[in-house]
Amino acid sequence: MRITFLGTSHGITEKNAFCSSALATVGTAQYLVDVGAPVDTLLANLDIPLRDLRGVFITHPHQDHYVGLAQLTYTVEDFGRFEDVRVPVLAPEGIDFNALNVFLWGDPRGHDRYRTEDPPERRIRFRVYPDAPPDGSVIFDDGTLRVTAFPVRHIPHSHAFLLEAEGKRVVFTGDLLRDLSDYPTVITSPDAPPLDLVVTEAAHVRLDDPETPKILAKSKTPTLVVSHRAPGRNPLSAVENLARQIAPIRVIAAYDGMVLEV
Ligand SMILES: [Zn+2]
Repeated sequence: MRITFLGTSHGITEKNAFCSSALATVGTAQYLVDVGAPVDTLLANLDIPLRDLRGVFITHPHQDHYVGLAQLTYTVEDFGRFEDVRVPVLAPEGIDFNALNVFLWGDPRGHDRYRTEDPPERRIRFRVYPDAPPDGSVIFDDGTLRVTAFPVRHIPHSHAFLLEAEGKRVVFTGDLLRDLSDYPTVITSPDAPPLDLVVTEAAHVRLDDPETPKILAKSKTPTLVVSHRAPGRNPLSAVENLARQIAPIRVIAAYDGMVLEV
């Protein structure tokens, strides 16, 4: 599995950093975790055709994690060259996709288009997954990638995702509470199998809080990527300090375009 970080910023875009989005690649199959970035352009930059997109997963209903869906939806639905695209978008409760379609196409066309479940011409297929129970629930499995959602407490309907493919296990924490009291136990539990990669947020937590490294050090992973980073709260020096504190876990500050082979 290859992870490409398309957007690594926090709530707003920063210089050369879009809001949250990551691409998981398994063979030729492509999957997106959060869509805060203009992903149709970024995938084109990577020469990845949109027809290779097999699924989109949104961690929680905050705009910087889904605003790029507006452009993706418009691009895919409106242009003939994307007729062969069929993408399920797995989203939590709290996002009004009908309003998105009214915004894009006006009323009543938007309502007409999306009132019935999956009209045949629909290419972007919105699905709401229910809030996950504490031990997680599988929200997607196409035989290539399995995604399990775990609840976190950032805002209502917030989730971390476990991605499993090719025998590899990767967790995206999504957004968390400032004190990391909801840092997912699938990462730290002695009973859980070890992970190959954890991608955690740094928009809300303070990496220089003395409690933070104690929690992150429990992560059962060789590599911890710090993404969704607010540079004012967590400058690069704070990431470097964290790396010294939780060695031998390798800590990497994500940047837009960064690629990791897992
Ligand atoms: Zn958030």
